[in-house]
Amino acid sequence: MSDSEETVREIRINPIVPSESVLVATARGMRPRDAEERMERNAEAHVDRCPFCTGNEDKTPPTILAVPGEKDWQIRIVENLYPVLGDDRIDSGINFGLQQAIEGYGRHEVIIDHNNHGIAIHDMEVTHLQTLFQTYRARMKQLYESDERIRYVLVFKNFGAAAGASIKHTHSQIIAMPVVPENVYNEIMHSRNYYQKHHQCIFCAMIDEALTFEATIYDRNSGEIRRRIDVGQYVVERGEKFIAIKPFASRYEWEVHILPLNHQSDFINCPDEDMEDFANVLKRTMKRLDHVIGGAQYNFFLHSQPHGETCADCPPSYHWHLEICPRTSIPTGFELGSGLFVSTISPEDAAEQLRAVTLD
Ligand SMILES: [Zn+2]
Ligand SMILES: [Zn+2]
Ligand SMILES: [Zn+2]
Repeated sequence: MSDSEETVREIRINPIVPSESVLVATARGMRPRDAEERMERNAEAHVDRCPFCTGNEDKTPPTILAVPGEKDWQIRIVENLYPVLGDDRIDSGINFGLQQAIEGYGRHEVIIDHNNHGIAIHDMEVTHLQTLFQTYRARMKQLYESDERIRYVLVFKNFGAAAGASIKHTHSQIIAMPVVPENVYNEIMHSRNYYQKHHQCIFCAMIDEALTFEATIYDRNSGEIRRRIDVGQYVVERGEKFIAIKPFASRYEWEVHILPLNHQSDFINCPDEDMEDFANVLKRTMKRLDHVIGGAQYNFFLHSQPHGETCADCPPSYHWHLEICPRTSIPTGFELGSGLFVSTISPEDAAEQLRAVTLD
């Protein structure tokens, strides 16, 4: 039995956000309910009644941005038909004692990722993925510049009904909001604290640790002390400028994060020449995930430095990244009640399985 096949039962603290932890329990008895059914992939390139397919442009709200152009678009940004935030004024006027509210100001837009209806991210050309992320970047920049009340622009993708997608045509979303969302805020606060103590970015430290990790292990039975050096144990994919890592304390069993190898706090400043490598690492990572957990439903989202005074001192301490969270199981009452996510596969084992996939 190799190390990775041994039963693991431990509570792991997320190094970036210590208030988040995960219970890694690979013993069978801990297995939560069956994974969501695998989604049958609809690989059709064009569906006549789909509002996001070519020829049906008049069935969506007006185009905000079309790439390369309106007529031959491959990527299109439109307003969300059912926005969760908008720039129209709906002021609840609540500001009473413990009931404090901030006006739901913001923007909610849909990015039609590709003119091909059923294409998966891992089947898109690297050049297309590069353009897609450059389009995210351009729109994020425009939104931040359009209104100084915008504190955070979140780009995310829901793929599959279990991940919250209501339209099957491949798409992602942008929400610009007047507050920094809690998940990002927590990462910022902790990485700032870490920076003040260690004068180093915690994400850069985590990348270094993922590449080489030395541990001293005390064996309870023999009393033997040995040193273990892990090289690349958490690395799923490595490009020239980007790395895909299986986090040590992943909330989702197949969760993978992609980060720039060199320190960069704001995705908006990611140069074009780096985007190609990012697109390549993303494609290869998604391919690996598809091989191992084929047809899985997932969310991905970009975490980047917020704008505004909350984050004036973030550039040296925060490090942008893409979190990919496949939804292979549904959170149980234990997880919702405790906030402790259960992982029935050890992150080391998951990383090894993902690395073992042979890609052409
Ligand atoms: Zn479609
Ligand atoms: Zn960093
Ligand atoms: Zn994050």
